[in-house]
Amino acid sequence: MTPKMAKARCEECPIKDGVFVPPEQHPAPRFVILGEGPWKNEAEKSRPFCGLSGRILDKALSNAKLLRRQATVLNATQCYPGRKLSQKDWNVAVNCCRPAVNAIIGDLPVLALGEKALTSREPGMKGIMKWIGVRINGTFPVFHPAAASRGPALLVPFNNLVVRFGQILNGTFKPLVWPKIVIHIDQKTPYEGAQHE
Ligand code: SF4
Repeated sequence: MTPKMAKARCEECPIKDGVFVPPEQHPAPRFVILGEGPWKNEAEKSRPFCGLSGRILDKALSNAKLLRRQATVLNATQCYPGRKLSQKDWNVAVNCCRPAVNAIIGDLPVLALGEKALTSREPGMKGIMKWIGVRINGTFPVFHPAAASRGPALLVPFNNLVVRFGQILNGTFKPLVWPKIVIHIDQKTPYEGAQHE
């Protein structure tokens, strides 16, 4: 079969019969938004991040003073399977799509949304919650906006993380500086007194 994207190993992919949602490629992108995979909505509209997750993402990007139209937007896997997949099949699909994804990303900074986006960039790395907000070779992992849509407990941290990614890109990020700690030793502490008794 002809690969759906240059360098993709579609022949070996468990979702090769799925609906292909093409990446939204900017001619000269500042950064890349890498999601997990298209879902029903995206498959119907043939556009990544066009549903509720996309609206949450767009709002966070706006708060981060970033524009989606400055970015290339794609997924770790570009096809919507239309059925439930095992974790093993997802892993194979991410591996098959990775060469094409990497060719599009090149050296650009990546906002990686969700577990599959993280493992697409860094094979073998698991557990997105352990890595959120940690820059790894130009990749900035954040949990997926679909998780943020489930309630304000994750919506606010999602927004803050995207804002931090924007600050890094815009050169306005200031690392946390711990305040100077001065310890005054009280000469009259009961402990000191106790030593002289
Ligand atoms: S997910 Fe990627 S590798 Fe798999 S069939 Fe679609 S384009 Fe090809």
